[in-house]
Amino acid sequence: MNEHFETEAIRGQIERSSHREHAVPVYLTSSFVFESADHARALFADEVEGAIYSRYSNPNVDEFIQKLAKLEGCETGVATASGMAAMFAGLASFLNAGDHVVASRALFGSTHQILTQILPRWGVEHSYVNPSDEAGWKAAIRPSTRMLMAETPSNPGLALVDLEFLGNLAKEHGLLLNIDNCFATPYLQNPAQYGADIVTHSATKFIDGQGRVLGGAVLGSREVIDKVKFFARQTGPSMSPFNAWVLSKSLETLAVRMERHCENALAVATHLQKNPKLSAVNYPFLESHPQVKLAKRQMRHGGGIVTLELAGGYTAGTQFLDALDMITLSSNLGDSRSIATHPASTTHSKLSNEERAAVNITPGLVRISVGLETVEDIIADIDQALERVG
Ligand SMILES: *Cc1c(COP(=O)(O)O)cnc(C)c1O
Repeated sequence: MNEHFETEAIRGQIERSSHREHAVPVYLTSSFVFESADHARALFADEVEGAIYSRYSNPNVDEFIQKLAKLEGCETGVATASGMAAMFAGLASFLNAGDHVVASRALFGSTHQILTQILPRWGVEHSYVNPSDEAGWKAAIRPSTRMLMAETPSNPGLALVDLEFLGNLAKEHGLLLNIDNCFATPYLQNPAQYGADIVTHSATKFIDGQGRVLGGAVLGSREVIDKVKFFARQTGPSMSPFNAWVLSKSLETLAVRMERHCENALAVATHLQKNPKLSAVNYPFLESHPQVKLAKRQMRHGGGIVTLELAGGYTAGTQFLDALDMITLSSNLGDSRSIATHPASTTHSKLSNEERAAVNITPGLVRISVGLETVEDIIADIDQALERVG
């Protein structure tokens, strides 16, 4: 954990311009001026540092990614236009035809689609394992395996993987370890500390925190990130300077926002445990979570997401959403506004019933991204909606 998290998130900004502005301005420019032909040559030869073209780098994008890398305990990174652009870059920069990936079964819907629908067209194979099945992880490794991949806690099932176990396994077999740290954010958990080589984020979620912009990041050592930089420079999934400016400002408040998201989420989860309309309440820091010990070992707090299982199944799940007054129905998460979604009918509707069951997405599962509103108001809205479920 970074002991100067808040200070570095706030003070890690780029140098002032000659205008002596306090807040960093937005550098809306597609390219940068060369001082001479030789300066241009030296920039392209990597002999000197500096921006060339905003597909490669831009002061706002650099500020965002350097701050985020520091908060994750990584050397450097690449910022991308969305979380999925980061996911794809983190895979495509390293995998060749014939390579094999061992992945946790509990992956974000689109990441699952990349592994099952896109990469196989280019000869990259994968095997899925249950996130907590240590013997399964070991057994799935083949001579052609190149990468281990997981998301922890997972979206939306809140399953955890043991980062220390995976870090050691990857090291032992000389494999790359790729972790999607979107749900935890660098404030709650730092996978690089356990040996993750590639740490990916959807910055759209808690990092932005106010549901305004899309963004993503791939973080790691200079050696690893050089490969991602090459891939991203040529294929162009660049983050816009404006989005980088927004996200860089967001990092300044990440620690205080996460403290409150987690406090509110724990209060909501604790309160709902006794509700008869629910067959389960899942939250990593509830004593009833099957991996609570692991959660407390590798996370600072339990995160901002709570999932509820409505005893009445699919129909009760959709009735509950329609009965909410304040909480928004939207597919984002990590927003200051609380949001509810029903994965079985939306984000995970493309999975088969068996695939959903394998990652704990039951027909009555509702995901609540607990926001920053007054916690009593969040609880009151959920309570009244549950009362109206038949
Ligand atoms: C949202 C999300 C993504 C994708 O991010 P986008 O910014 O929407 O492209 C990837 N992984 C997880 C865990 C997510 O929640």
